[in-house]
Amino acid sequence: MSLEYTNDTAANQALIKEVLDQYPEKSAKKRARHLGTVKTEENGTPTCGVKSNIKSVPGVMTVRGCAYAGAKGVVWGPVKDMVHISHGPIGCGQYSWSQRRNYFTGTVGIDSFVTMQVTSDFQERDIVFGGDKNLEVMIDELDGLFPLNNGISVLSECPIGLIGDDIEAVAKKKAKDIGKKVVPVRCEGFRGVSQSLGHHIANDAIRDWVFEKGTEEEWATGPYDVNLIADYNIGGDAWPSRKLLEEIGLRVIGSWSGDATLAEIERAPKAKLNLIHCYRSMNYICRHMEEKYGMPWIEYNFFGPTQIAASLRKIAAAFDETIQKKAEEVIAKYQPLVDAVTARFKPRLDGKTVMLYVGGLRPRHTATAYEDLGMKIVGSGYEFAHNDDYQRTATYLKEGTLIYDDVSEFELEKFIEQLRPDLVGSGIKEKYSTQKMGVPFRQMHSWDYSGPYHGYDGFAIFARDMDMAINAPVWGKLKAPWKAA
Ligand code: SF4
Repeated sequence: MSLEYTNDTAANQALIKEVLDQYPEKSAKKRARHLGTVKTEENGTPTCGVKSNIKSVPGVMTVRGCAYAGAKGVVWGPVKDMVHISHGPIGCGQYSWSQRRNYFTGTVGIDSFVTMQVTSDFQERDIVFGGDKNLEVMIDELDGLFPLNNGISVLSECPIGLIGDDIEAVAKKKAKDIGKKVVPVRCEGFRGVSQSLGHHIANDAIRDWVFEKGTEEEWATGPYDVNLIADYNIGGDAWPSRKLLEEIGLRVIGSWSGDATLAEIERAPKAKLNLIHCYRSMNYICRHMEEKYGMPWIEYNFFGPTQIAASLRKIAAAFDETIQKKAEEVIAKYQPLVDAVTARFKPRLDGKTVMLYVGGLRPRHTATAYEDLGMKIVGSGYEFAHNDDYQRTATYLKEGTLIYDDVSEFELEKFIEQLRPDLVGSGIKEKYSTQKMGVPFRQMHSWDYSGPYHGYDGFAIFARDMDMAINAPVWGKLKAPWKAA
C-alpha cells in the first residue's frame, strides 16, 4: 500500500544551489555531483542522479567512517565466538567498543566476546620495530585466557599497513599453533573512502580465511536450508526475521553476522539459497558463493508490512508449493497485528514528512515502512552507497525527492532547516543538533536503543517509536513563554 505523492523538484534544486554557493569553487564543483533529486530518465528509468563512492572533500565534516569500522564494527565484530583484535593503537577499538547494538546470546568473556575491547595497544616501539612479534604473543595469551574461543580475527588499524607488518604470516603460523582459525583482515582506515571498502575486505577475508581453510563439521543438509545474510541483529532485528523464515518452513542454517558463530559461517556453502538483507555490505560474498558453489541469492526487505509480504512471497517463490502456501498463511496470520498497529499509529503520523541519512541500506529499505504509516519521504541519502544502491533507491523513492550522497554536516543542517521535516532519521552525530532545531529525530543506526524494527514484530516497535518522537509534548515547549509572539 505504497503512498502516491511527489516532491518539489524545482524547490529542491534551488536548495541544492543555495548550499553549493557557500563553498569555495573547487569544493562546490565536487559536491555538486553528489546532490540531486529523483527523476525519470528519457528511457523511463528512475534515477537519483548522483555520483557516489568517491573520496570525501577535506574539511567539510563528512559523516563517514573508515574501512576498519566497516570490517570490525560491521562484519566481523558481531561474530560472537571469536575474539576480535583491534590491531594498532588504542583508539579505534575503544571508540567502537560495544557501540553497535549487534545483539547476541552468550556469556561474555567465556564463550562470547562481542562486547569486549581487545587491542594490541600499539606503543611507539611497535611502530618503530613492528608489531608482529607482540601479535604472536597476544594470540597465545588470548587463547589461554579465553579457551572457549573458536577463532581469532586481526582487524588492522591505520598503522599496520604503513609500517609493513606481515599479519598474514602471523595468522598462518598461529592458526597452526592454536589449532583454530586466525583471520587477518587488512582493513586499515586509510584504505578506500568509507566503511564500504572495509565490508569488501571483510567479505574477502571470509572467502580466503574461512571458506578456503575448510571445516571439519558434518552437516546434514535439507531442501529448505537458507542463510540469512547481512542482518546484524541490531536491537534483535535478525530474530523476528529468522522467526518469519522458519514459520514459512525454511531452515536458517546461518545468520550473518549478528549473533553468528564461526561454525554458521563455515557451513554457509551447504545451504540452498542466500537471503541477503544488507546488499551493500555482503553482496560480495553472495556473488562468490554463487560463482563457486552455484548458490543463488535473493535480496529481501523486512521493514514494514508491504515489503515483508512482498519479500516472503519472493522468497517462497524460490521453493515449492508447501513453502508458498505457508508464506500466505504467515502473511494472513500477522494481518491483525498490522491492522492494529496501523489503526493506532497511522492517524497520528499520516502526512508527516521524513528526511533520512544513514549508511548503505536503510535510506531506501525503511522508506516503505514509513509510507505504510502514511508518512512521506522528502529527502534521503547514504554515507557510503555505490551506484547500484542509488539505482535501487530510485525505485523506492518518489519523483523530486532530495538526494544527498556523503552529505556534509553543513549541507544536512541547511536541508533540515529549509525542508523542516516532521522527522529526521539519521545517526548519533546528527541527533542533537537536529533536536536543538526543534525537529524530532530518531536514530536509524542504533534504533535509539530500541528495536527490533525488522519483521512484523519490529513494525509495531517502529511505529510506536516514530509516534513517540514526533508527537512528544516537548516540541511545543521549545520557545520560552516570555519570548512567544
Ligand atoms: S581511520 Fe584509522 S585510526 Fe581512524 S578509526 Fe579507522 S583505523 Fe582507526
